[in-house]
Amino acid sequence: MAPVKISIIGAGSAVFSMRLVNDLCKTKGLAGSLVSLMDVDEQRLNGVHELASRYVRELGADLRFEKTTSLETCLHEADFVINTALVGGHAYLNKVRAIGEKHGYYRGIDAQELNMVTDYCTITNFNQLKFFVDVARLMEKICPNAWLLQTANPVFEGTNLISRCSNIKVVGFCHGHYGVIEMAEALGLDENKMDWQVAGFNHAIWLNRFIYDGRNGYELLEKWIQEGNLEKWRPKNPFDLQMSPAAIDMYRFYGIMPIGDTVRNSTWYYNKDFETKKKWYGEPWGGPDSEEGWKWYEQQLKTTTDAIDFLSKNRTLKLLSLNTYLKFLPKGAVPVEMKKEVEVFSSPDKLSGEQHIPFIDSLVNNNARRFVINVPNEGYIEGVPNGVFVEVPAIVDKDGWHVEKIEPKLTDKVLRFYLWPRMMRMEWALHAIMNGDKAALIEFLMRDPRTKTLEQAKAVIEEILNLPENQQMKTHYEKG
Ligand code: NAD
Repeated sequence: MAPVKISIIGAGSAVFSMRLVNDLCKTKGLAGSLVSLMDVDEQRLNGVHELASRYVRELGADLRFEKTTSLETCLHEADFVINTALVGGHAYLNKVRAIGEKHGYYRGIDAQELNMVTDYCTITNFNQLKFFVDVARLMEKICPNAWLLQTANPVFEGTNLISRCSNIKVVGFCHGHYGVIEMAEALGLDENKMDWQVAGFNHAIWLNRFIYDGRNGYELLEKWIQEGNLEKWRPKNPFDLQMSPAAIDMYRFYGIMPIGDTVRNSTWYYNKDFETKKKWYGEPWGGPDSEEGWKWYEQQLKTTTDAIDFLSKNRTLKLLSLNTYLKFLPKGAVPVEMKKEVEVFSSPDKLSGEQHIPFIDSLVNNNARRFVINVPNEGYIEGVPNGVFVEVPAIVDKDGWHVEKIEPKLTDKVLRFYLWPRMMRMEWALHAIMNGDKAALIEFLMRDPRTKTLEQAKAVIEEILNLPENQQMKTHYEKG
């Protein structure tokens, strides 16, 4: 057991901070550790710090928290750095998406074939990608031996960019592989009898191995389809896509199942407009990346941020009793998704399911466990160049990660028609940003089926570069 310093950048993140704090408090092997919470938004930072400090006291955990708005202070003597920051916030993403739509690009110019995820901006959020590199370079100076756990999106572009611009040890994290468990539940399978593997890139993973109780699991999926379950399928929320018509159609085309966010990352075939999205991702939202689906998600984020704010100001409320309080609220007052979070938080030992803290525990305390992580390819996926970050299953212990042999291999169609074009988009975005190549941005859009004229592509890029928050981006692309 060794105390470490864990630094969380963007600690006000509604999605992650309280999940990470939850897991830290319940991981005995990290007792005595110092957690540095860093954010530029002091109100959010104070709220999370107050809750974290109270939660530790209620649980009787042995952890110390510091809060800071200084990146340097946060990184000082850090052993692990978790970056969850979203530079510019959701407001910036909404602004840029609206500009894209004004110029004829439904859901904005970052929505591209095989990358439809709304907060996964590879082209327009220069400030976010630059921040990734700034953090890594500052780590080289302040905490060169620390690990960087890259969580903020875009994880695929981000991990590759960081590894090409710095020597910091970086590993990417996502929870998309839990789609395997969702699929098991839909098929009525006991997850403990499943032997599964996924492989690919972040938000681009495929179920290459699916054995159930010694038999081919894909036969069970076929049975589920033949019994008419696809026709009966309805989403419970916009993110409930694992068994959607889009997922099954992708399975039919590529030969194996897309897992988690991969289902969102399809082509224009399923995403052309709201009506098309509804057909493939289900009514009424058309998946999380439609106008209605994203509105739903932003409301969830707001509910979480408001809840953190409320709880931090009402200090007499016992955090471990939250589940009990909920029972007194009228039915439907709290979204189902939030109830699940509260249940974990109110329990003395339940973990959130995020991989970051167990990963640190495995490295520090040699508690070997299985993870699905983003690491540089070293022949793990044949046909993908070494060095490109792949999302693969690995055992992690004190010696680092040990990636499983990917067996059976991904299908040829997945490799050639999905991973290669997705990798090409990543290379393109990295080329543009690393060289300040504005022409590459415009050419990127010229290959977009929504672009009708060169003027259209140029105009949308110019309007985005001329936003006040994009001054640095503009200078960078004008000198390139
Ligand atoms: P959010 O806007 O709610 O939170 C981001 C936080 O970053 C805010 O508190 C903000 O103040 C802070 N921030 C902004 N600029 C900063 C800076 N320069 N330094 C420090 N902090 C800064 O966003 P969110 O919805 O919680 O998402 C955060 C990120 O996580 C996004 O990139 C999102 O795409 C990503 N994400 C990743 C996964 C995954 O599994 N990897 C899942 C969901 C979301």
